[in-house]
Amino acid sequence: MRTKLVAGNWKMHGSLATNLGLLHAVRDGVKGPAEVAVCVPYPYLAQARAVLDGSGVAWGAQDVSEHAQGAWTGEVSAAMLADFGCRYALVGHSERRSFFGDTDAVVAAKFAAALKAGLTPVLCVGESLAEREAGVTGEVVTRQIDAVLANSGVAAFANAVVAYEPVWAIGTGRTASPAQAQEVHALIRARFARDSADVAAGLRILYGGSVKANNAAELFGQIDIDGGLIGGASLVAADFLAICSAA
Ligand code: PEP
Repeated sequence: MRTKLVAGNWKMHGSLATNLGLLHAVRDGVKGPAEVAVCVPYPYLAQARAVLDGSGVAWGAQDVSEHAQGAWTGEVSAAMLADFGCRYALVGHSERRSFFGDTDAVVAAKFAAALKAGLTPVLCVGESLAEREAGVTGEVVTRQIDAVLANSGVAAFANAVVAYEPVWAIGTGRTASPAQAQEVHALIRARFARDSADVAAGLRILYGGSVKANNAAELFGQIDIDGGLIGGASLVAADFLAICSAA
């Protein structure tokens, strides 16, 4: 009943020239039931729209400002993303949390700003290796989610997506096993079910962290894994399309 979603996160990669081939290949190659999206760097949103508009592939951004407008040099508002036809905005990606100081409170404000502009926020959560080894994965992920629930309420998640991305698996080639991922996905869904069984049942929870063509099917086969957030492998059309087909 939940349509799977596979979203590419290009991170800070690409150029007008190289994007063109990738966007066309994804647009023309996507088949199958899963919804597909690409989250591109801000300057390439117009290019993504030009190639993908009218296709089945959505596009989005990798971050969004928590502010609506004003003297916030370098920031990009949710309304601006909506102007460029974005459907999605990632919020709280671990690289934003670790390298750019996005706290739980900032992430909650970004989530609310995205929703207000009609975007679908993709709330990224996940524990570090030290936190997993300390046995506090559940607490960390719950804290990250609770900050957003406290600010926006559970109903907001009827129009949102959650991505579970263990930090130790992002860009490392080290993937959570399907059982490890499923355990956390089930915990996340149970957290939402405490507030609303309906929202929990409809919520898409993506897995991210070194998803590749050769491990996607097993991950996506888990009962609470509703697709993936794909970094490195989303930059190679054949790999990304194989992952989309596995969903
Ligand atoms: C990501 O950037 O969200 C990600 C999951 O990266 P990778 O697939 O490269 O681990």
